[in-house]
Amino acid sequence: VPEGSLDWKKGPCRFCGVGCGILVGVENGKAVAVKGDPNSSVNKGLLCVKGYHQIMCIQAKDRLEHALVKKNGTYVKTPINEALDIVANKMKETIEKHGKDSVAMYTSGQSTIPEGYVASKFMKGAIGTNNLDCNARLCMASAVAGFLTTFGADEPMGCYEDFDYADYYITWGNNMAEMHPVLFSRMLEEKNRRGAKIIDFATRTTRSSMAADRSILFEPQTDLAVGNAICYEIINNGWVNKSFVEKYCNFSKGLTKMGYGLEDKYKFKDKPTKINFEDYKAFLEDYSPEKVSKLTKVSVKDIKYLAAIYGDPNKKVMSLWCMGVNQHTRGTWMNNIIYNIHLLTGKISEPGNSPFSLTGQPSACGTAREVGTFTHKLPKGVVMNPKHRAKAAKIWKVPVEKIPSKPTYHATEMFRAVDRGDIKFIWTQAVNPLVSLPRTSRFRPGMEKESCFVVVSDVFPTPTSDVADVILPASWHIEKSGLYGNSERRTQHWDQMVEGPGETTPDAWMFIEVAKRMGYGDLFPYSKENHVEEIYNEYRQFHAGKKHEMAPLEVLKKESGAIWPYVDGKSTQWRFNAKYDPACSNGEEFHFYGKPDGKAVIWQRPYEPAPEMPDNEYPFWLNTGRVIEHWHTGSMTRRIPVLHKAMPHAYVEFHPDDAAALGIRNGAKVKVSSRRGSCILPASINERGLPTKGQIFVPFFDENMLINDVTLDAFCPISKEPDYKKCAVKVEKV
Ligand code: SF4
Repeated sequence: VPEGSLDWKKGPCRFCGVGCGILVGVENGKAVAVKGDPNSSVNKGLLCVKGYHQIMCIQAKDRLEHALVKKNGTYVKTPINEALDIVANKMKETIEKHGKDSVAMYTSGQSTIPEGYVASKFMKGAIGTNNLDCNARLCMASAVAGFLTTFGADEPMGCYEDFDYADYYITWGNNMAEMHPVLFSRMLEEKNRRGAKIIDFATRTTRSSMAADRSILFEPQTDLAVGNAICYEIINNGWVNKSFVEKYCNFSKGLTKMGYGLEDKYKFKDKPTKINFEDYKAFLEDYSPEKVSKLTKVSVKDIKYLAAIYGDPNKKVMSLWCMGVNQHTRGTWMNNIIYNIHLLTGKISEPGNSPFSLTGQPSACGTAREVGTFTHKLPKGVVMNPKHRAKAAKIWKVPVEKIPSKPTYHATEMFRAVDRGDIKFIWTQAVNPLVSLPRTSRFRPGMEKESCFVVVSDVFPTPTSDVADVILPASWHIEKSGLYGNSERRTQHWDQMVEGPGETTPDAWMFIEVAKRMGYGDLFPYSKENHVEEIYNEYRQFHAGKKHEMAPLEVLKKESGAIWPYVDGKSTQWRFNAKYDPACSNGEEFHFYGKPDGKAVIWQRPYEPAPEMPDNEYPFWLNTGRVIEHWHTGSMTRRIPVLHKAMPHAYVEFHPDDAAALGIRNGAKVKVSSRRGSCILPASINERGLPTKGQIFVPFFDENMLINDVTLDAFCPISKEPDYKKCAVKVEKV
């Protein structure tokens, strides 16, 4: 098709948290081409392999085009209005019989901002339950808890322009070449252009390690100790930025014995205590490079090398992390430790000096965190705070008593509650928990029970929709208007580009229709044609003020996004630095205004072992993750022929020495088993990645090779984010 004959429409990519700008070429009402948006400062016209091929999935033959209702064990095609009646009646009936906390909703970092907003208003404002959580709990919750504990405010201080200034990029357990490929390209460009250096710090050799200037490997879970050793070196070599620390930092410690959340109804509350610099210095005595080297298998030379980079006052450093740090039973602590390094050296909140927590999903920031589709959240607030509840009640026009003050279930506990029978109705949107939850085998029986009514809104059938009572046909992103928020606080809007097939409907509109049928119509006075605009304008009221202002829709319609706080017609690129951030108000150079005294916290966080370590019976570490071709559980990308062909199924990566010792050849079928379940996969040796000896790696995108039947449902007790990166397994030839 000649490019010029197409009508090109702008929007963000459907997939990862980088948030690349795309242009979709439309011809005769059909999306026929995609290219990178050259006007987007995120990707400057470039996309990755998922981005370029994204629209091909909407043509898949098994697209969910109509509602399906299970009748006598068979799915029957049902008009959408009738299906929504069934959902509303069942939800109402469940609440009447078992109370409002017997119903739950599980949403997504792939939901749009209006979808997340309506979900929150519906569950918290209309029904009056906090039984709302999302799959960002599985990827970003530790980042949220890290921001809140260190800075008292969620969301990053930096932006992607940091890439243009940093001398070093240190990636912490983060295979950006596959997970954030367009940002990795930016790093490679800077490496070629001006000699910026990439240091890959990880448990496994990946494509990122291969392109890095230096690859440093550590034993799983011991990143806590290495981080502390870097702080030890910074202090003992006199590299502390004393004036910054004295003016802008406090020191604290919390409880160290937290457990791992393996038991049902697990409760944990931290007890922070103020300490001083000398206490913190004394704590770090256990983390000299010599001591830490033995535990971590990182050489003393490499620990000192990392510390010297951070300690050099003339070098600008970006630290980048995502799942390796967040999916960790001490994920909040790991986030705190990386901030400790940047705070001790004062390398923060200025171009190129940036601790940068990357997001996984396209709107993990915009929807899950900023709107707040977690159990404890409200739009720009938390349910525990009476002022935030009062503000939400005022904007939503509901009595304040309606919004409960206590969080209920985070993701893992929500599905445990389904299994226990405490939740009797659950509605999932744009998520696939029966592939993505850790220890999936533990949760499937609960979802299959007749006593729990399951509603699944999705674009394609999945193992989760296989257990649904009602399946609702959702619009794909370009078939509706919406907004996403990416890793750098950039909000991006798009208008509907094409019509969806059959009776596909935007998730937000399905919530509104069900809410109306349940008698909450007054709270959802939006029109079908303009609901995205109306909802966004209502939502913006939560963010009024210099600290969080969101850009008006007129701006977002014209531009390739804007970064909040959007003040006086300008994005705020660096927060907490008075030079760039108009919200700094205490007359100092830096103002961490999330904390009442304007100071960030340096946390004393020790190393603790993982809840399950390799032993004689289960001698290998299992690490799971993603591959560049597939998005999460593969429900979309496995339906894109070119991506499916490039990566048709999952595999288990071995170190060649381990494979030789076990007599396993490339491609041979092997069984990976833990104390919880097993999975049969082909072996991969000397192919894409190289695990260190004693470790194996399996990607989780393949619903036919369900590695999450094997993983462990332990989580960080502060963030409640599960650890998919570490459990003990054995391997047998099949
Ligand atoms: Fe899409 Fe992420 Fe690839 Fe960019 S890097 S094109 S946002 S999947």
